[in-house]
Amino acid sequence: MKTWVYLFDEVSKAEKYAGSWDSVRALLGGKGAGLFDMTRAGVPVPPGFTITTEACNKFRETGKFPAGMWSQAIAAMKVTEKRAGKKFGDPRNPLLVSCRSGSKFSMPGMMNTILNIGLNDKVVEGMITLTKNPRFVWDLYRRLIEMFGTTVFNLDDEVFEHPMAEYKAKRGYKVDVEMTADDWKALVVTFKAVFKKHIGNDFPQDVYKQLELATKAVFESWNGKRAVDYRRATSIPDDLGTAVNIVTMVFGNMGDDSGTGVAFTRNPSTGEKKMMGEYLLNAQGEDVVAGIRNADAIEHLKQDMPKAYKQFMDITAKLEKHYKDMQDVEFTIERGRLWMLQTRNGKRTAKSAVKIAVDMAQEGLITKEQAVQRVTPDNVDSMLHPQFDLDAMENAEKTGTFFSKGVNASPGAAVGQVYFDADTAEKMAREEKQDTIMVRPFTKPDDVHGMIASKGVLTSEGGATSHAAVVARQFGIPCVVGASAIKIDLEDRVMTVGEIVVKEGEWISVDGTTGKVFLGKIPTSSPSLEEQTELLTLLKWADDICARKDIREAQANGYPTRGLQVWANADYPKDAQRARSYGAVGIGLCRTEHMFFEPERLPIVQDMILSESSEGRTAALDKLLPYQRKDFDGLFEAMDGYPVIIRLIDPPLHEFMPDEEKLLEEVITMRVKHESAGLQEKEDLLAAIRRLHESNPMMGLRGVRLSISMPEIVEMQVRAIFEAAADCTNRGIKVKPEVMIPLTGTVKELEWIQPRLIRIAAAVMQEKKVKFEYKFGTMIEIPRAAVTAAEVAAHAEFFSFGTNDLTQMTYGYSRDDAERNFLITYQEQGILEKNPFQTLDRAGVGKLMDWAIAEGRKTRPNLEVGICGEHGGDPSSIEWCHMIGNNYVSCSPFRVPIARLAAAHSALKHRPMGQKSMAKVNKKATVKKTGVKTKRSTKKK
Ligand code: PEP
Ligand code: MG
Repeated sequence: MKTWVYLFDEVSKAEKYAGSWDSVRALLGGKGAGLFDMTRAGVPVPPGFTITTEACNKFRETGKFPAGMWSQAIAAMKVTEKRAGKKFGDPRNPLLVSCRSGSKFSMPGMMNTILNIGLNDKVVEGMITLTKNPRFVWDLYRRLIEMFGTTVFNLDDEVFEHPMAEYKAKRGYKVDVEMTADDWKALVVTFKAVFKKHIGNDFPQDVYKQLELATKAVFESWNGKRAVDYRRATSIPDDLGTAVNIVTMVFGNMGDDSGTGVAFTRNPSTGEKKMMGEYLLNAQGEDVVAGIRNADAIEHLKQDMPKAYKQFMDITAKLEKHYKDMQDVEFTIERGRLWMLQTRNGKRTAKSAVKIAVDMAQEGLITKEQAVQRVTPDNVDSMLHPQFDLDAMENAEKTGTFFSKGVNASPGAAVGQVYFDADTAEKMAREEKQDTIMVRPFTKPDDVHGMIASKGVLTSEGGATSHAAVVARQFGIPCVVGASAIKIDLEDRVMTVGEIVVKEGEWISVDGTTGKVFLGKIPTSSPSLEEQTELLTLLKWADDICARKDIREAQANGYPTRGLQVWANADYPKDAQRARSYGAVGIGLCRTEHMFFEPERLPIVQDMILSESSEGRTAALDKLLPYQRKDFDGLFEAMDGYPVIIRLIDPPLHEFMPDEEKLLEEVITMRVKHESAGLQEKEDLLAAIRRLHESNPMMGLRGVRLSISMPEIVEMQVRAIFEAAADCTNRGIKVKPEVMIPLTGTVKELEWIQPRLIRIAAAVMQEKKVKFEYKFGTMIEIPRAAVTAAEVAAHAEFFSFGTNDLTQMTYGYSRDDAERNFLITYQEQGILEKNPFQTLDRAGVGKLMDWAIAEGRKTRPNLEVGICGEHGGDPSSIEWCHMIGNNYVSCSPFRVPIARLAAAHSALKHRPMGQKSMAKVNKKATVKKTGVKTKRSTKKK
């Protein structure tokens, strides 16, 4: 018979069946696996068992428990009774259990959990006799009935909350602690009546029936809207299913020697190595997690319960060592005795992820490779996200736009319009394209869609571990919680602090880094990388991984065996400087035409275009030459020692001319008004624009075709490049110019243009009496060039994939129009999985690249290959470039750090079989040299 149910101490059995720890997690869920692992490690875990995700998936298929599952659950219950020394449903010594969801990947609060199962009218009486605490027992019972109604039978919270609020109001109570035993008892009667009214049956008195219904409800919650939305947002697969953990209840609400709390072993916001958590004395778990009651900081537990605190600190330190990661734990202290209810790798902000990874590597807990693998490219992206300008914030405080301050739950700056519920926040963000800030007293799992759609989140209640805080951190949404000075009026849709009123739709600025909230919009700026020391360390480790000589499989034809380098697309010296400071080791694309648009140059460019003769064009180009020389000089200087790829003019000439419609309007107006001064020039210009008009300019006279039609332009550009390079060489700067010819379709084009340009290069070097290395190469943007790469490589010394055009031409989608016309529909309909202009299409465009590299290197084994389309900064596309043998990727300077990490991830993921990690290599080397084992070093020698 198949095993559907595992007791907490049956971890070996589960491992044997599942095969690996990852599969155990899939079988028992992350929470379950954690409980099993803790039990094995001797951590005090309340006895219990787990029903597998496989059972859940069978149940979802058939609507029934699989054969044998329920009898296994009952048998496990009998063992649990023995271990707990209590009996399920026995009034004399009752066992109560919780029924908790838990899938392979943590989905906090997205699925159901039911506590206090096993209470009925008789058990309540028995427990009162045992505990002599009727208030506590009646409170438990009313909680169970309420949870059963809302969770198992999906009743609205309101149906219970409303009569409770009415009851409290009638008694004049403000808070729950004022409720007496009789009050809770009376409320149990009311809740039972509510239950019967809405469900049609009495609240079930059979405790096994309770357990069965609760188990089914947890299974069903896998397909609840909240859970489905969450899975969409986090890319968790739909077919994993949830396990059900049946755990003996321990009570944190048994008096002042009891309590409950949640904690992170390191700060999930900053990464600081210091326990961060909260607890409540005399309370049940959900009170802390929901953030409804303001909890106490974990440090204070030391005074309240020194023994339990010490045990807690010892256990959590052990857990962190065991899992080699920051842990998020839940615990309960029942009458002085500590129980660990859960441990899992804690969710964290990007900043914290980086700091924890680097610290743990430096502490020797994990390797540098593991540290690099733990941080995602998205983490790096969000660390470089905008922050509020410090000056602007100070100024805002001085000028009275400070609104309030709360807990800085998730860092970053958010500016947006206020909305007071998740649906409206989401609607305004998605449909009206507004930047929204969702404001709530506190958030619940069904608010997540509004949070994800918003730029920021603000709550007036709850602490750093409240739902809002945890979810915001996970998604990198700036968030301030517990700004208790703010009064939120959900009816009138306003929030106030004293006299200041903010209405729905008004702008605020939320600073998740400091916890401050301001009225209106505060300017933001991007944080500097130089100040983020841990990130710099991590990126250095990433570079070291890529620099290893054997990180890629060596193949024939010069395939590189080191990892990818990261270069940048930069047109101006200031971009090049930024690129270098972000770690780029080359310029992969300088789009020279951008410089032609500058105000003092555009008229010269237009003169050149309007000239009918070659002499006229040359005269205008002579005027442009000094400008271009200066541009390139600055680039070479900024990139001293690194290669700089300069692309010759690419766009169709009409792009440099004024707008035709506007000009026509001007001409007509002048004619109507009989204004003659300047009319002829305008008419000539209009005629020239019309001459240049093409039906498909993207496939028209551009790139190398333009160079062949009007070679004077590129001749000037090559002269400028080599004059600048020569001048720089004379100043002691090491130059490595690489001239790139765009949009090649046939090798004949290169045969025509390249020798002319090389002659100019040679002439300049001779004139200036200097020598330096240089290359001439081409972009691969046209499928024909990719297909005939072996021929193209006979002339081109390097290839750079212009994947913007290559994607456009391979799919036949206009890169300027496809997004707005049909790409979104295509993605919605599943015709395209991803936008191919963002993520490289491996099956089509990627295949062409793969072919082109292999063919190109057949002709020229040391062919240098890069990519300079937008894909050069996209992690999945970077991985492909690693796999097919690119030497480098080139992307926007801002994406360079992301690309460095993505390159290292690719290198580690695809490292050759049998390649030892550097740690092992170095360890061996050290042992050999000294004969004794010394500290493990991962430094590259
Ligand atoms: C490309 O086509 O990918 C490219 C980098 O060139 P551009 O975007 O300038 O056409
Ligand atoms: Mg292009």
